[in-house]
Amino acid sequence: MLTKVPAPGEGFFAGINPQAVNVRREDGGGAVLFELPQRYYDWALMLAHFPASAAAIKRFLPEGSGLEPVTVAPGFGVVSIGAFEYRRCATLAPYDEMAVMFPVRLRPALPLPAVPLLRPEWFSDLGFYIWKLPVTTRESRDVGKALWNFPKSYSDITFTPETERRRRRRCSWTEGGHHVVTLEIRTSNTSRQFREFLAYSVMNGRLQQTLVQSYGDYDESRFGLDATFSLGDHPIADQMRELGIIDTAIGRLYSPTIQGILPGPSPVPFSKVPAALHAPRVLKSIVQRSAPKRPGPRVAIIGGGVAGLSAAHELIERGFEVTVYERRDIPGGKARSMSVREPVDQFAEGLPCEHGFRFFPGFYKHLPDTMSRIPYAPTGKTVADNLVATSRVAIDFNGEEQLVFPARFPTSLADFATLLMGAGLVQERTGCSAEEITFYIGKIWQLLTSCEERRLEKYEQISWWEFIDAENRSAEYKRYLGSTTRTLVAADPRHASTRTVGNILLQMLFDFGTPGVNVDRVLNGPTNEVWIDSWVEYLLKSSVKWQHAAAQSLLVRNGRLDGVEVADEVDGRPVNRRTVRADYYIFAVPVEVMAELLRASPEVMELDRNLEKIIDLSRDIATMTGIQFYFRERLPLEPGHYMHLDSPWALTSLAQAQFWTTDLRRFGDGTIRDILSVDISEWNEKGLNGRPANACTRGEIKHEVWRQLQRSLPCLQQLQPATIYLDEAIVVRNGRVENADPLLVNRPNHWRLRPEATTGIPNLFLASDYVRTYTDLATMEGANEAARRAVNAILTASGSVATPCAVWNLHEPAILSPWRWIDRYRYYRGLDWDSEFPLALRGLQLGLSLTSAAVTAAAPLIAPDGASRGAVPEDEGPQFAVPGEVQQRIGDRIQEFIDAMRGGDPRALLRLFVAYATITIGVRSHMVEEALPFVRPGVLVRIEEIKSVYQLGALVHVRMRVRLSEEGRPGAPLEGHVHVVFVETEEESWLINSLRYRREGEPARLEVLSEA
Ligand SMILES: Cc1cc2nc3c(=O)[nH]c(=O)nc-3n(C[C@H](O)[C@H](O)[C@H](O)COP(=O)(O)OP(=O)(O)OC[C@H]3O[C@@H](n4cnc5c(N)ncnc54)[C@H](O)[C@@H]3O)c2cc1C
Repeated sequence: MLTKVPAPGEGFFAGINPQAVNVRREDGGGAVLFELPQRYYDWALMLAHFPASAAAIKRFLPEGSGLEPVTVAPGFGVVSIGAFEYRRCATLAPYDEMAVMFPVRLRPALPLPAVPLLRPEWFSDLGFYIWKLPVTTRESRDVGKALWNFPKSYSDITFTPETERRRRRRCSWTEGGHHVVTLEIRTSNTSRQFREFLAYSVMNGRLQQTLVQSYGDYDESRFGLDATFSLGDHPIADQMRELGIIDTAIGRLYSPTIQGILPGPSPVPFSKVPAALHAPRVLKSIVQRSAPKRPGPRVAIIGGGVAGLSAAHELIERGFEVTVYERRDIPGGKARSMSVREPVDQFAEGLPCEHGFRFFPGFYKHLPDTMSRIPYAPTGKTVADNLVATSRVAIDFNGEEQLVFPARFPTSLADFATLLMGAGLVQERTGCSAEEITFYIGKIWQLLTSCEERRLEKYEQISWWEFIDAENRSAEYKRYLGSTTRTLVAADPRHASTRTVGNILLQMLFDFGTPGVNVDRVLNGPTNEVWIDSWVEYLLKSSVKWQHAAAQSLLVRNGRLDGVEVADEVDGRPVNRRTVRADYYIFAVPVEVMAELLRASPEVMELDRNLEKIIDLSRDIATMTGIQFYFRERLPLEPGHYMHLDSPWALTSLAQAQFWTTDLRRFGDGTIRDILSVDISEWNEKGLNGRPANACTRGEIKHEVWRQLQRSLPCLQQLQPATIYLDEAIVVRNGRVENADPLLVNRPNHWRLRPEATTGIPNLFLASDYVRTYTDLATMEGANEAARRAVNAILTASGSVATPCAVWNLHEPAILSPWRWIDRYRYYRGLDWDSEFPLALRGLQLGLSLTSAAVTAAAPLIAPDGASRGAVPEDEGPQFAVPGEVQQRIGDRIQEFIDAMRGGDPRALLRLFVAYATITIGVRSHMVEEALPFVRPGVLVRIEEIKSVYQLGALVHVRMRVRLSEEGRPGAPLEGHVHVVFVETEEESWLINSLRYRREGEPARLEVLSEA
């Protein structure tokens, strides 16, 4: 949770811009004029929590919503009874309300008993599911039901006034003359606080969340006799008895007077990120989303591949008007699957085919997040549920030998045995020497422990081939260890940047080493059938417009893009040219198409010279294409991808029927039982026929790939494909292959050529797999991330207050932070990477590693399933992490620590942690600035005294006395205490978890809690 304290002179309601909404009255008689968000100028609250049967509560939660009761102990959930007296609201007449609610969490990764109640601020998904909500006016009932689908009823509710003597208040709910429930709580002295409540409801089958914000006088107590309840003789009271509620309150909240803001509901994003963070900003976005629809700014998206569809998805959810212009009649771009259109032979027409098989590694975050927001009608779930994990990765060597590994952290004896056998055979099967294998592993270790600066500045400059010193090693090393990138990420090791290849290899390695994560996932049917078509359908239903047209050129006027010329294409020739206009334009077309469009519109490049780099970049494309073999029998192959390391054309393959729930008999003449989907990544090396794929006819390519496959997999030798489909993007002209769908290759030093999603033209944005992203590889994940960046840039450009799209950085295991910090220390001193962790630091290393391991284990408690990550707008993310130069200083401190240890000074540990504290306070967080106006750049923070340093599990607490003074104003220092809790998460290095400030001699009154 985040503290939002009204600044002096600024009311609690400042910045709220309510919209008028008309709600139809339930019993006829016109409409209720309501404003959203509703401002509650004065109300009172009584709330108490009681233990009850978790199983009984669960029966009342909406099925399939993912909501789980919060428990106090195994089997015991919580029932909360509330009473609210709304004395003055903006548009509603005063009314009273009672609520019977269940504290819940949304798909908790680790359903911890009690902790959410004790530390609610750790759980951003913690909210109330409201079961009963009686109110005393019909208009509040009608509005609540129509706008939130809250279970409101029109009832009798009576508050008894507080008596001087007893200091207790009571509220009773009566329905049709029968008593339902009475709540009585102790009143007490209060203090000014800001509090938020998250409420869940279900509208039109979709889970909604509403974040109520309040500011006023509160008092809270736990575990006592401060609250009791009694049940009456109404049937609802009987239902409540079935909940097995125990009349011993475990919590009580009381407020005699508060102000509140009630926004409209917003659909719960599947990333499970409730809007509970970044309050002022999110609040406004909820307001905006729930406001009656006004036409938002218009965005034209050129290209309907993964990037274009992702951008449309994010924009339409944020109130923009979106039109997608797509050249092809099939959506999905390179990710598309389709039906064989021209009969290859009598039964081939209608068979499912694809541009290339789809591989969704475990480290992908952006794409699965989007997929989990696309409804899939046939199952009533989402398309993310159509992803299935493979369980094996097979590497074969020339048909003689095979290595099979589990495609996940071993979770069974069979996995474990497969892993050990596979690992034990690497040397024998590859023929590489032990020294070479050790050397290769050392290079991976070097990647793991190098700091980001070294990766960006040094490794970006060199090819993977050079990095692993392949040129000076044996033929076996070159062939097997050197070329894994070919088959893994379709990158030629001689030409691919070490940074790009290395980062992706590491991500896959981390997946292998993470229990519960699958390295490899595939779809359970043809891509368009189980994903893309549902996506387009969802977007169209959400008012996205779709036009089948191809962009021809860009028009500029007054330093901005003035329109895009589009045309229909007949046999590749443009006809019916016209200009489309919008407020913003996203080009989500491949790099070579963008380069072509820029060449056709030189005046655009005059506005932003940087765009010329796209033309240079577009030369670095290569062919990688899919080919499918159809069989009348099931293939006897491993359940996962095959890397045919010895195939001259760098083939990878997957037998699909084992993963598909789609019945293959539906297709073609109904006799097909399996499809071997193959990607060809090498088009310039000679095949077994002595010719490169580039110089073959389509027929020759099919024949040659089949030969190479049969050589790699002897089990295929007895089989004959019923038919073969080579992607239609492959066209042979004048004896040379032309590919309509090439793929970008990340060559060394490419990063400098790659554009950001924003350009120098204020309304032109780029989103495709070549844009600069954390993912940094031409993949569906990179395309999706690029789209999110483009959308975020449009939010900024348009002044929108909608929540920015989440953007995730690649995973860096916290456990290796000390190594990376040391390397950063070395890097800035011009020293090379060093394999040895300093000997003197072994003790610390162990300590840090244990801490990190504990944090990793505790991460779900602190940020369930990446909840915090999702809510951090990308441009603000780094503000929470310790900046690079600070990490460098930490490296320095570690070095200091080494020296101190050598000098026999055990107190160095204390200094080490103090160093973090000193540094982290200076983090530029707008939230810190908002709540603590004096903690901003230019404010000096000097630590005067360390009061205590102690460690609790993964947390390090440092209490200290600081002196804060303005730069240039040394005469006006502020003194106080700062309490900082550091949490090392697996995502970032160090984050501020909480920062409390209090003036000397005064009670703590200002608090900022950023996300953990
Ligand atoms: C064979 C192969 C296999 C792959 N396998 C994987 C994999 O397993 N996992 C993975 O993550 N990635 C994979 N990739 C990479 C991934 O498919 C791409 O990086 C990603 O799909 C790119 O998406 P995009 O939207 O940026 O571009 P594209 O998919 O190229 O989409 C661009 C869209 O723009 C349209 N267009 C082009 N010109 C115009 C115009 N003038 N006007 C209007 N529209 C236009 C195109 O028709 C297309 O629909 C693979 C790539 C290939 C080639």
